[in-house]
Order: sequence, then C-alpha cells, then structure tokens
Amino acid sequence: MAAVIELQDVSKVFEAEDVRTRALNDVSFSVAPGEFVAITGPSGCGKSTLLSVLGLLDTPTSGTYRLRGTPTATMSPRDRAQIRGAQIGFVFQTFNLLGNLTVSQNVELPLRYRGIDPGERKQRVQEALDRVEMSHRARHFPAQLSGGQQQRVAVARAVAGSPSLLLADEPTGNLDSANGEAVMTMLVELHRAGSTICMVTHDPDCAERASRVIRIRDGAIEDDGQHTAAELLTTTAVPAGDQGVVEA
Ligand code: ADP
Repeated sequence: MAAVIELQDVSKVFEAEDVRTRALNDVSFSVAPGEFVAITGPSGCGKSTLLSVLGLLDTPTSGTYRLRGTPTATMSPRDRAQIRGAQIGFVFQTFNLLGNLTVSQNVELPLRYRGIDPGERKQRVQEALDRVEMSHRARHFPAQLSGGQQQRVAVARAVAGSPSLLLADEPTGNLDSANGEAVMTMLVELHRAGSTICMVTHDPDCAERASRVIRIRDGAIEDDGQHTAAELLTTTAVPAGDQGVVEA
C-alpha cells in the first residue's frame, strides 16, 4: 500500500536577520497507512518544524514531501488548506482553538469541513467532549478555560472528525496523569479505527503506546524504530540549551 507520508532529503532552514538555523537536515522516512509513530528528541531538535511540514503548515527549504503519493511542493495554499481541513487532525501545544467560538463550536468545525450532516455532528461533538470530560463546558469560550481544559478540547476537536492522519505535538503536555491517560486512550482508539498518527512526545509512557519511535537529533534522524521507546528515551535527556544547528 502507498505510504501516507514520504519525506525524501527534507531540509528546513530558517533565516532571521543574519542567523541561519537548519531545523531539519536531510530527513527521509516514510509512514505507512495505519502506523502510530512517536517522534522524540531533545528540545530544539526540529520536532515541531517536522510536524508543521507534515501538516502542510510550512514548506521544506529543499527535498520532497509526498502526502499519499502527491508531491506537496506544487500545491497551492488553497489546496493545502483543503487537504488540512479534510484529512488532517492537529493537536498543538498552543491549542489553536478559535477564541470567538464556543467549545462545542470549536469541536464541530472540522466536522463541518468534512461535510458531515448536523445530526451526526452533534452526536460526535457530544461523544468527544464526554470522553475528555468537558461536556459541562460546551458553551464556554476557550479563554474561560484552564490550559489543561483547552488541551482536552483541542484533542476532542482533533479526534471527533476521525481524521485519516492525526498530528499531535505533546498531546498530554499540559495534563495531569488522569487526563493524559484519557487523551492517550483516545489516540489509541483512533489508531485502532485506522487513522495514521504522528505524535511528538517527551513522555516515555506515551511513546510506549506507539508502534514505532523516531528519534531526532540536530534536525536529523538519529534512530528509527530500531529500539524500544524506553531505551530511546532514557538516552534522550533534555539538554540545558537549545539544540538547533545555527549556521555561519
Ligand atoms: P523542537 O520542536 O524539537 O523543540 P523546533 O522545531 O521548534 O524544535 O525548532 C528547531 C530549531 O529551529 C530551533 O533551533 C528553533 O529555534 C528554530 N526555529 C524554529 N522555528 C523557527 C522560526 N520560525 N524562525 C527561526 N528559527 C526557528
């Protein structure tokens, strides 16, 4: 079966004033349909940049990224937005909830993009909010919630639409262990239902739930599924400084 994600020699260089940062350095890997991949590595090694590229939110400086066999370089901004809305679910550290919509309207939005009828939308929103224990806040606005509550809503929004590809950046990062476990259970169920998942995480317990662990260092793949999550994470201590490779 064709890969969902195919990266070939992907690099990403940020230029800010006279500083060039190589956030990704010749990254190549493929993800097959239905894989659950954990992406790990020290702070600043390029994980979020990689997730942004995978989610069509940013473009590589060089190299090719094919999504379900289609080269992404030639896609128009409109094509990219359309694919994001129809196929990709996101859970970001910054939540990205829309402040002028209520909790239930936020969760419902991707379902609207996917053309799901109002009756089913209502049911799916209710189910997703129940599972993260946020039904009682359905009519609240994001600014009225704590960080952890916003994260739970963001996860509910991402999984309610049963996206074929889910991209998650530290999905349990702001949560206590009970809520973190609820979120991981939702991701595992989504995976069982057939979604492909790429999840950035520092948490060994979360990485253990994935079927493959990719470890990144200095913008490059250091290890790809050759070791168990526990082995990888014990050698991935977070360094004091940022890891991005600053070029002369
Ligand atoms: P991680 O998610 O692993 O912490 P990031 O992908 O956020 O790492 O960052 C990788 C490197 O790229 C870091 O050195 C970071 O400072 C740099 N970087 C990320 N985004 C930008 C940007 N928009 N402009 C300049 N540098 C950036």
